[in-house]
Amino acid sequence: MKNIAVFGSTGSIGRNTLEVVRNLNKNGFPVTIKYLTANSNWQLLAEQIEEFLPSAAVIFNYESFKALKNRSFKHKCEIFCGTEGIKEIAKRNDFEAVVNALVGFSGLIPTIEAIKNGKDIALANKESLVVAGELIYQMLGSSNSNMLPVDSEHSAILQCLIGEPMKEIKKLFLTASGGPFRELPVNEMANVSVADALKHPNWKMGNKITIDSATLMNKGFEIIEAKWLFNIEAENIDVLIHPQSIIHSMVEFSDGSVKAQLGVPDMKLPIQYALTHPQRIGSDFPRIDFKQLKNLDFGVPDLEKFECLKLAYDVIKSGGSYPIVMNGANEAAVNLFLNGKIRFTDIPSLIKSAIDKHENHSELSLDGIIEIDSWSKRFVNDTALAAA
Ligand code: NDP
Ligand code: MG
Repeated sequence: MKNIAVFGSTGSIGRNTLEVVRNLNKNGFPVTIKYLTANSNWQLLAEQIEEFLPSAAVIFNYESFKALKNRSFKHKCEIFCGTEGIKEIAKRNDFEAVVNALVGFSGLIPTIEAIKNGKDIALANKESLVVAGELIYQMLGSSNSNMLPVDSEHSAILQCLIGEPMKEIKKLFLTASGGPFRELPVNEMANVSVADALKHPNWKMGNKITIDSATLMNKGFEIIEAKWLFNIEAENIDVLIHPQSIIHSMVEFSDGSVKAQLGVPDMKLPIQYALTHPQRIGSDFPRIDFKQLKNLDFGVPDLEKFECLKLAYDVIKSGGSYPIVMNGANEAAVNLFLNGKIRFTDIPSLIKSAIDKHENHSELSLDGIIEIDSWSKRFVNDTALAAA
């Protein structure tokens, strides 16, 4: 029996995780959900509580907390509000693993709390590793927690590495669909609408990662994520544009052999693998139909057009506190874009201004990371407001 908490259960990864849990319970791999969390969607959280009977739930938004508190449930379910609630449940000893499906910087403290309390982590929240990879790996080194990737590329790499000696890894290839603007001429990028940017060709995801995929910032984040998860230098991680999103990533070994993991673009498989690793459990999730599959194409990303990926490469090279600034500035800029306040091409410009303004340093405590994140977001919001 596996007992888990799902942080961010009302989001895209959260809802897919619950679907996976339903499948595992049908297929002889019992999973019990002990805790669920959401930001403001208390109605969906209430439905999930009714179905999965957790012992407690956490909701961040205070109005939603009050609404959820007023709702009666057939079983006893404690309701907590905010980060204090996460800290409270992380301490409990009736569960072993957390699926961190929170979005953005909000996932960091829950990741840290899970590690402090010796919980295993199935990590979807890549931003945790972008801003605090070093701190997280220091903490993992002296704790009983294990971290497994949910992100499809990193799940693919994990699957390719089974039975392989780490010292023989030559290169990782992270694949990227190229997003909705893969073929758009560079001079049309400034005028794309929010609706255009949210039309991802292959994946159905939350809004923030969908925009990160349209700018290719997501791939920059994933290089940092892979570097920490697999302890590989970033210069040995290549990005390949692969529009079909069938090969989820590849590993090249010292003898020139390359292993790839394939599947349809559906997050249920990598989520399930993170929960059952090293076992595989049957499912009726969608499968590749090789008779329909005409081509698998590959190309290199255009760094002139996708400036966010170019910025990410520069930030990865410099290291230190720059990734925190890049992440915070990106989160604020994506929010402004989604709210119709800035153009798509303002996203990289604002991130670059924040990076240029910041003095890089490498002594990074959790408080220091939180401070830099807040500063970056404030800087981007103030700069955009001044320009409006
Ligand atoms: P969503 O926006 O769909 O869901 C986010 C979840 O976190 C929701 O439950 C939301 O609650 C909650 N939440 C949002 N903001 C806060 C906050 N400030 N404090 C507490 N809870 C909050 O995101 P996704 O599921 O798309 O992505 C989650 C993570 O997984 C991201 O890091 C993303 O990069 C990564 N990922 C996602 C993939 C995907 O297919 N979606 C693929 C690979 C990685 P509420 O519903 O109440 O707003
Ligand atoms: Mg991914």
